[in-house]
Amino acid sequence: MKEYDVVIIGSGPGGYICAVRSAQLGMKVAIIEKYKTLGGTCLNVGCIPSKAWLDSSEKYHELTHSFTDHGITAGSVKLDFSKMRERVKKVVTDVSGGVSFLMKKNKVDVYIGEGSFKDANTVTIKGEKEVQDIKGAKIVIATGSKPSTLPGVIIDKKRIITSTEALVLEELPKKLIVIGGGVIGLELTSVFRRLGTEVSVVEFADSIIGTMDGELSKTLHKILKKDGVEFYLGHGVTEAKSDGKKVVVTAKDKKTEKMITLEGDYCLVAVGRRAFTDGLNLQAAGIKIDDRGRVETNSHLQTNVPHIYAIGDVIKGAMLAHKAEEEGVLVAEYMDSQLPHIDYNLIPGVVYTWPEVASVGLTEEQLKASGKEYKTGSFPFKASGRARASNESDGFVKVLADKKTDEILGVHMIGPRCADLIGEAVLAMEYRASAEDVGRTSHAHPTYSECLKEACLAATDNRALNI
Ligand SMILES: Cc1cc2nc3c(=O)[nH]c(=O)nc-3n(C[C@H](O)[C@H](O)[C@H](O)COP(=O)(O)OP(=O)(O)OC[C@H]3O[C@@H](n4cnc5c(N)ncnc54)[C@H](O)[C@@H]3O)c2cc1C
Repeated sequence: MKEYDVVIIGSGPGGYICAVRSAQLGMKVAIIEKYKTLGGTCLNVGCIPSKAWLDSSEKYHELTHSFTDHGITAGSVKLDFSKMRERVKKVVTDVSGGVSFLMKKNKVDVYIGEGSFKDANTVTIKGEKEVQDIKGAKIVIATGSKPSTLPGVIIDKKRIITSTEALVLEELPKKLIVIGGGVIGLELTSVFRRLGTEVSVVEFADSIIGTMDGELSKTLHKILKKDGVEFYLGHGVTEAKSDGKKVVVTAKDKKTEKMITLEGDYCLVAVGRRAFTDGLNLQAAGIKIDDRGRVETNSHLQTNVPHIYAIGDVIKGAMLAHKAEEEGVLVAEYMDSQLPHIDYNLIPGVVYTWPEVASVGLTEEQLKASGKEYKTGSFPFKASGRARASNESDGFVKVLADKKTDEILGVHMIGPRCADLIGEAVLAMEYRASAEDVGRTSHAHPTYSECLKEACLAATDNRALNI
């Protein structure tokens, strides 16, 4: 039987990054993946294909909606949906191939098959043709998550679908009903709306992207409504059914108890994801899960069986690829007797709609609830020369800083390229910068990043320069 220093189950961003870092630290590593391609949800049916669709649909939308403002008139614009889908598929294949390359480069043994615990040090791999056991002195569970659903909503994967099927649809929906106004639901809403689909979003909460700062939620709601997305907030879906050609969704208004009925050709269920441990046979190793089915871990990401670790979507915390990656690195370094640390407050959150929404640190609602004294500084993109030059003036950057020390406590932004801009805010907060520190840092002109500098100046002493 082959023996390894570390056996990793699952090749998503948590698992494959843990494999690379462990190999860098001199460990003999095996990674097990039940699908034929590596990269997990993120690369195959998550971050990468969704961003590829977002980029393609954004280009189409610009050509059909905003190019004329730039003095560009196109003759006849044709949407080739299947070509768009093929491009997305190729992007996924290329990126997943990149992970296989990394495994080879770092001499990580890859096993394709479903891994399950035989005992606390042995994993059985059920491949297409053979079954084999391997041993690991340490084992990392990185099996990710799967879409959840609601009572009364049975996902048939044809008309009532999850994001996985939505990313490979063979036709462009005419009318799409999206259940869930969170990140995944709204990103796919944007894709289809830009391509011309009529989209209705039904959300149980009274706001969209509920965990983000309230001002971001309100602004995105307004912009998506202006783009023609129909919203039913405060509505609980009671049933979704399909006759194979169309779908009918019923929902109840929480306040008035009035029922509504929506009809479409597809219904996308985007109500969150659940930790995935099916088939792992956790009991054979004595590993505990919590009441939400997530593998329980301590601050070193060890399970109750100390040489078995768990990372990413399968444990508590935000279901984000970069959170899973940080945890993969942490576990590898901890296994190497180092003392790594993750500040979960500084894991940024991004919604890749257009404009993009991005956030790090505490929201204004959290600060109010904590009673901490804070000050705010905002800067609108419409006051930015760069945003004006590119006709992208919706949105703002908001900085929240400690009233006494001026330390930045949270940065929340909606606008062009915020997904990239938030990196500067994360870095500043990682080094515990004050708003004035960022405000006194030279930012190239004209750039969108000047908006963060200006918002910091506004927070420092109400001394933004360009407004
Ligand atoms: C549509 C969509 C868009 C998203 N966009 C973003 C985004 O833009 N940014 C972001 O940060 N996050 C995004 N996410 C979330 C992100 O994909 C996840 O947070 C991330 O993939 C979690 O990584 P992971 O390594 O924990 O698990 P996963 O990526 O889910 O990987 C787990 C892997 O384990 C394998 N596995 C499971 N059980 C076994 C077993 N028993 N044996 C062998 N293999 C097994 C699975 O097949 C899978 O390949 C998105 C998700 C979706 C669905």
